[in-house]
Amino acid sequence: MKTIGLIGGMSWESTAEYYRLINEEIKSRMGGFHSAKCLLYSVDFGEIENYMKTEQWDKIGRILINAAKNLENGGAGFILLCTNTMHKLFEQIQRELNIELLHIADATAEKILEMGIKKVGLLGTRQTMEQNFYKSRLEQEGIQVLIPNEKDRQIVHEVIFNELCLGKIKQESRKDYKTIIEDFISQGAEGIILGCTEIPLLIKKEDSKIPLFDTTYIHAMKAVERSIN
Ligand code: GLU
Repeated sequence: MKTIGLIGGMSWESTAEYYRLINEEIKSRMGGFHSAKCLLYSVDFGEIENYMKTEQWDKIGRILINAAKNLENGGAGFILLCTNTMHKLFEQIQRELNIELLHIADATAEKILEMGIKKVGLLGTRQTMEQNFYKSRLEQEGIQVLIPNEKDRQIVHEVIFNELCLGKIKQESRKDYKTIIEDFISQGAEGIILGCTEIPLLIKKEDSKIPLFDTTYIHAMKAVERSIN
């Protein structure tokens, strides 16, 4: 079994899910007392969030590269960055490593294509929805990506930072997200990417008529496959 390296803490609410999902999957595949070999480097999200607000991405890059190198030196066989948004810095981090960083959008694209889906709605932070680093990865695979309108992007982003990353799950926000999902469906979306690792804490299968692509789950399963094969 290869040791899984996790860069987490963004937020720890979703990193805890990664840890649970990875261990549950190892247990179900290997049985008995088996559990995942993994190393977790969990950052202080307070620092990161401040640098995001002030657009100091170079500083975030330095923190994440340091975390990744520590995991590599500690014996990780490969690494997961447990957040969609920080994949903005994917190339920068990968460049500094001798081991592989498994891209969350690539793992998600693979699942979307497996289901024969070509058009999806994307929910995530403002950066993930609006910038190119994430969408382009999916578009390269021939997947058409819809994003919410400006007002709805604001809602989706604020729920992530003001609620989900702080462990708050609110019924009103679930309702807002469901309306946005309905809107995607009326525009022809065949699936929805929960492109922020906290969104699956709020939105579940029963909240959507079309398939949901839970990036936390998909990424965690990719790690298990890579660890045991
Ligand atoms: N966990 C989130 C994501 O998947 C947002 C927090 C962050 O900015 O890293 O994008």
